[in-house]
Amino acid sequence: MTFKTIIESFTGAFVEQLFWYAGFAFPLFFVFWILGKKYFKKIRIQETQRAKSHHFKHDLSFSVSTFSIFAIFDICILYLDGKGYSKVYFDINQYGYMWLGISFFLVLFIDDMFFYWSHRAMHLPRFYKIFHKVHHKSTDPSPLTAFAFHPSEAVVEYFVGFVLPFLLPLNFGVIIAWQIFSMLNNVFAHLGYEIYPKGWVKLPILKFKTASTHHNMHHQLFNGNYALYFTWWDKWMGTEFKDYETRHAQIFERKNIKRSTEDLNSLFVQEEDLLLIKEQTQEKAPLRNS
Ligand SMILES: [Zn+2]
Ligand SMILES: [Zn+2]
Repeated sequence: MTFKTIIESFTGAFVEQLFWYAGFAFPLFFVFWILGKKYFKKIRIQETQRAKSHHFKHDLSFSVSTFSIFAIFDICILYLDGKGYSKVYFDINQYGYMWLGISFFLVLFIDDMFFYWSHRAMHLPRFYKIFHKVHHKSTDPSPLTAFAFHPSEAVVEYFVGFVLPFLLPLNFGVIIAWQIFSMLNNVFAHLGYEIYPKGWVKLPILKFKTASTHHNMHHQLFNGNYALYFTWWDKWMGTEFKDYETRHAQIFERKNIKRSTEDLNSLFVQEEDLLLIKEQTQEKAPLRNS
């Protein structure tokens, strides 16, 4: 690889990353946060918008750096694939339709598991400032927050995407479907509006798919709801906020919510959780935006 081809490959990979971002995050930000702001107010997760333009600028600038890191990983994958190291295949018949379906759900399970545990690790005091503080600048997240990572966290976020194509035989279509699912899920998790219907969190099986409220509560309260795709790791490990279901239901029954000047009061957080939040946020992150 010459210097010129490296630059060309990087530019191509970076533009492709931006293309995904422009296809998902920007349109949803525009529709929910600008054009339909009044219309969608009824499904706003945090009743009062606290994200300001300086949060959007912060999130955008760190998203650009994230996509640069992702583009570097893309080039490495392409290079190693060219050398014949990857197990990516194109002909479905090579492994059959059964493996096609299983492999899709397997990558989601592995990706979700890695995200849950690495995310929990990044909330440990010794790692929080280095890796994760940048992402938590927005306590009222928007679609622009979805990829706002410190470069060190961006490396962690791409880890599974980087190693799996070399460990498992994955059809190219599965990788694209995984990328689209991941991008959409990430943007909906940071949407700031609940797009999953009333009662979702109580539905059999489907309740294991996180609603938008799930990760929004993580941005507001920090020490729980660590998963991004599915709720099972939080349920198994006892890290799901106790009032996740109540909070989701309340969005559809606004008139029953006790209005309060204290944003957190409307969440019915347990006393011990509040103490932990105060402890954690005093040192490492602002609880509310100024
Ligand atoms: Zn987030
Ligand atoms: Zn976090």
